[in-house]
Amino acid sequence: MSVLVYVEHAAGVVDEPSLQALTLARGLAGGDALQAVCVRVGATQSPADALAGHGVETLHAAAGEAFAAHAPCAIAEAIVELSRRLSASAVVGPGTERGNEVLAHVAGLLDLPLAANCVAAASSDGGTNVTRVRWGGSLLEVARVHAPTALLTVQPHAVPIETTSSGAPAVETFTPTLSDAALALRVAERLGAATGGISLADAKVVVSGGRGAGSAEGFAIVEELAGLLGAAVGCSRAVTMAGWRPHTDQVGQTGTKIAPDLYIACGISGATQHMAGCKGAKRILAVNSDREAPILASADYAVIGDMHEIVPALSVAIRAARSS
Ligand SMILES: Cc1cc2nc3c(=O)[nH]c(=O)nc-3n(C[C@H](O)[C@H](O)[C@H](O)COP(=O)(O)OP(=O)(O)OC[C@H]3O[C@@H](n4cnc5c(N)ncnc54)[C@H](O)[C@@H]3O)c2cc1C
Repeated sequence: MSVLVYVEHAAGVVDEPSLQALTLARGLAGGDALQAVCVRVGATQSPADALAGHGVETLHAAAGEAFAAHAPCAIAEAIVELSRRLSASAVVGPGTERGNEVLAHVAGLLDLPLAANCVAAASSDGGTNVTRVRWGGSLLEVARVHAPTALLTVQPHAVPIETTSSGAPAVETFTPTLSDAALALRVAERLGAATGGISLADAKVVVSGGRGAGSAEGFAIVEELAGLLGAAVGCSRAVTMAGWRPHTDQVGQTGTKIAPDLYIACGISGATQHMAGCKGAKRILAVNSDREAPILASADYAVIGDMHEIVPALSVAIRAARSS
């Protein structure tokens, strides 16, 4: 089966959701080598070396002015052109915000259905059976995709990355023919996130604050603890709605999906939509004044009390432990 995988990368470093998509795609391909597609920004490296061990035969790198900044419609047109040339039976991408957006444009261009956020996929009897995450992670749906080309994205952090003995793929650069509309949507400016350079999606430790923080200023203690732990700062939607933190910090169904080793949630109730973004955390520590808060059902550890006392006390304890 001919499977084409859209790979996201930053200057040659492939993100984990793309590697997870490659693992799912290998199962779907049933032993056949994969084709991969990425965009090449200017003279930056394409991620061929990072794809060694992931079963990719050829990495097709789309090049051209259009890819100088993230442009989902242009990437979608490049993928469509390539999938037609390769007669792909399936196109798989990472279920990140950008991956889902790009594949949704591909689906629009091909007038085919998109099965987003899959955790399993297998081809059978000329169709594709998928299991996918629905309703913010509260249920798994088993469905069948009826389409000449199955379009799938893979739920981030739900499929463990597996490697093979394959080497680095050959790289073929191509310049797709793009429509005038392809550049209607593109990134015009990038603003640095306020996380001290630690990406929320990839951080090993995340310290988040919710409405319980009380104000934008209330996040000073959250930032202090995060700084001591080398963690990224996150928050709930109540916080972004109040304008206390930018949307880039929001964890949840309509925010960033995270999978840290430790998630410290302070003053967050644990609404379904919030938990949809942090259920991949290996351990959750909840700090909450309400012992009935829903987050306690998912937490591995909890401290019941006022976060404005507990969070600074944690920072003091960490400093004391380090200086002793
Ligand atoms: C379509 C849709 C999408 C959504 N997407 C998201 C999303 O991506 N992410 C998200 O977070 N939400 C999302 N929401 C909103 C979600 O339903 C909740 O409203 C939100 O998560 C609540 O944020 P919160 O926990 O900070 O606030 P609250 O629910 O108000 O909880 C505050 C918590 O803080 C505790 N608390 C108060 N004071 C203190 C204190 N001093 N010390 C310790 N604890 C204290 C309280 O006991 C309570 O548990 C979405 C909703 C919808 C409808």
